[in-house]
Amino acid sequence: MIQIKTEDEIGRMRAAGLVVQQTLAVLRDAVAPGISTADLDALAERTIRAAGAVPSFKGYRGFPATICTSVNDEVVHGIPDRGAVLREGDVLSVDCGAIVDGWHGDSAITVGVGEVAPEHAEMMRVCEESMWAGFAAALPGGRLTDISHAVEVAVRGRGGYGIVDHYGGHGIGTEMHQDPHVLNFGRPGRGPRLVPGLCLAIEPMITMAGADTRELDDGWTVVTVDGSLAAHFEHTVAITKDGPWVLTAADGGAAKLAEYGVRAAVHAG
Ligand code: MG
Ligand code: MG
Repeated sequence: MIQIKTEDEIGRMRAAGLVVQQTLAVLRDAVAPGISTADLDALAERTIRAAGAVPSFKGYRGFPATICTSVNDEVVHGIPDRGAVLREGDVLSVDCGAIVDGWHGDSAITVGVGEVAPEHAEMMRVCEESMWAGFAAALPGGRLTDISHAVEVAVRGRGGYGIVDHYGGHGIGTEMHQDPHVLNFGRPGRGPRLVPGLCLAIEPMITMAGADTRELDDGWTVVTVDGSLAAHFEHTVAITKDGPWVLTAADGGAAKLAEYGVRAAVHAG
């Protein structure tokens, strides 16, 4: 069932979104060779709790940490570990979620550790841009797969990247994962209408080569079958009558959406 939010409820999701945004900003600054993913996890939990919020991943279906940290050929759902010390050139994806007053925010970034290979930096850039292309298609009156199609086109036009097809975006609200599932590929003009009050996490995952993935024995970590490196970006958006409002972006998505000729919804806060 799709949960449609009131403007007041979207405002509360914005509060959760900003906690996630601030936490990821702290983590981005902390990423450096020599730090462990467990260190980053502890920093994330402190930051979220200091903001009066609750980490949504911790305990989710038994997940043991506040963030997912996925390094190199790990795509998503990696578990922070004291022994996983970051090295120069690593590609690190961090996925973070927080709850404020029962409302969720969910966002992910991929960052290079120190200097990364140019082709890996380019993959990260393509992945992030494909996410924004998806938000630029998240327009009231459109259909769900307009987003999927926009993401796919933004990746396919840029090289031989794999688009991971086993995972995707999702509705979000009083639960982290709600209907509908948001594919990162497909034909436009299908699926549910993009109506004001629909809130979605859009999260492309791409790889340097093959799109096939498998789950490790820890029951969480998803890696590429061919060992190719992966990137993952995610933001939470609210569809409003005035356009998309990217709740986990500091500026609501205004600057990036403007590059696509789309006006982000203007809201106080
Ligand atoms: Mg996430
Ligand atoms: Mg998500």
